Amino acid sequence: MTNFITLSHKIFDLMSISFREFCELCERVESISSTLEITDVISEFLKRLEEEDLKIVPLLLMGSVFPEWDEKDLGIGPSSIFEAVSAVASISKGDLEELIRETGDVGKAVEIVLEKKPKGFLTVEDSEELSLQEVYRTLVEISEISGNRSVDRKINKLKYLYSTLSPFEARYLTRILLKELRIGVGEGIMRDAISKSFGISSEEVERAYMLVNDFSQICVALRKGGAGELKKLKMVVGRPVKMMLAQNAPNVEEGLKEHGVSIVERKYDGARVQIHKDGNKCFIFSRRLENVTNSLPDLKEAILKLPFDSVILDGEVIALQNGKPAPFQILLRRFRRKYDVEEMEREIPIHAYIFDILYANGEVLIDLPLKERRKRLNEIGSNEIISVSPEILSGDAKEVEQFYKKAIEEGHEGIMLKNPESPYTPGKRGKHWLKVKPIMETLDLAVVGGEWGEGRRANLIGSYKLAARDEKGNLVPVGKVATGLTDEMLKELTEKLKPLIISQEGKIVEFKPEVVFEVGYEEIQKSPKYPAGYALRFPRLIRVREDKNVDEIDTIERVQELYELQKRK
Ligand code: AMP
Repeated sequence: MTNFITLSHKIFDLMSISFREFCELCERVESISSTLEITDVISEFLKRLEEEDLKIVPLLLMGSVFPEWDEKDLGIGPSSIFEAVSAVASISKGDLEELIRETGDVGKAVEIVLEKKPKGFLTVEDSEELSLQEVYRTLVEISEISGNRSVDRKINKLKYLYSTLSPFEARYLTRILLKELRIGVGEGIMRDAISKSFGISSEEVERAYMLVNDFSQICVALRKGGAGELKKLKMVVGRPVKMMLAQNAPNVEEGLKEHGVSIVERKYDGARVQIHKDGNKCFIFSRRLENVTNSLPDLKEAILKLPFDSVILDGEVIALQNGKPAPFQILLRRFRRKYDVEEMEREIPIHAYIFDILYANGEVLIDLPLKERRKRLNEIGSNEIISVSPEILSGDAKEVEQFYKKAIEEGHEGIMLKNPESPYTPGKRGKHWLKVKPIMETLDLAVVGGEWGEGRRANLIGSYKLAARDEKGNLVPVGKVATGLTDEMLKELTEKLKPLIISQEGKIVEFKPEVVFEVGYEEIQKSPKYPAGYALRFPRLIRVREDKNVDEIDTIERVQELYELQKRK
């Protein structure tokens, strides 16, 4: 009998895991530094999972609740989380924030306060453990709450989770909610873990990931029918594919050395768009793979007229002023806009230049060489709103320099040199696309802290601490933007960043890193005051990179490179 119970319990375990087991996995992975070992641990774990858990675990391990392209969003910030935790732990929000400052780790602070909470009628010991699926379902429910008193209703669901989960589980829940799990599981590890777990090559997993952009779906396919089922996965019109990215080339000459005869295009200073058309349906995705279709009705209309039943295109949209490219800031008045869309449409005309085609009428085109994809692109034709980006095919430095000069004169940012033989590699920043720009390279940095101003500016955050990424993904401060910001700009920035404050000490605040600043600077200096040993001299804000998230900021390695480059000048 005992045996039977143990056995049936075991079978139940194999079928559906508890949230605690998931958190234990996170803790284990966090404690391992070897990538190979992490891959092994995850690979073994995946083997035990039933289909429903397989849909969840890869996403959560990589620190997100929903795929980045999914429109679902939890819609809760640190403040709602702190409110729920302090209510459950019966302490003030201020005390909780104080502890967060002390520990420097929100998850840990939450765990500590919940451990100390007065025990109610039902303690964790005698209540049922929540399964991973139950916790996930509650997160989905939170994302679905909208309308009247939605914040309170979301907080109530959070209170339910925090009062039911153990303090240990609450640590990981908090990190997940704040999108700060950071246990070191990136795409590479996940790909290799899946490959090992299902006994299939990394290349096959990588290939499927390029197409569907979702490890969960890949795991489910493999569990259902192995490699055969995986091969059936296809690009789906309506689901964005990661964008192919470019590397820097210092100048035309160096750029041409890389692939000789190149496809040369203008580099537009606008916003990247991935355009999907399926019959009379149309989707426009931003570089961060958000659905921005509703903000660009004129482009949508033009897309629906394209001579394809179904198609996925890659391009850049710019705003126009008197028929010429307008500064990027002007485009931002339209891009992602939710209100007064039509008024802005009348005020600010746009144009989309298309430079790539990934899929057409049921056919995946990403493996064709660029020169062939370019031929297919020409079927698009052009109109006032949408056209194929002009190109030249050249290996002649003089001719390319001329194209470059003209592009700059016309108001574009620079040029792109592309390898005519290259496939489209989603999400890859390879050498196949090289960008050449005249200006001193700017840096895209995360805003991690700030300081309230004084006097007239006492209610504005007047300076912003900026950080680059090191090779482990940690954010390392490299400078502060404080000058050259008008009151108007400070007001806008304060409004944007205030909800992201995670701690405050006197005037100094710390932000949840979500906002990215593009900054220019006088030069990069060696500085013992900064942890990476480099600091920016006179950094100035060029723009807020609405199109980039913190995972995409520049690295310390890049800062170092630029430091070396400037020495050579
Ligand atoms: P960066 O944002 O500085 O890394 O530069 C790469 C970006 O340039 C791409 O993500 C596109 O948004 C943009 N871009 C502008 N023109 C082109 C082009 N002709 N081909 C590819 N990307 C382009």
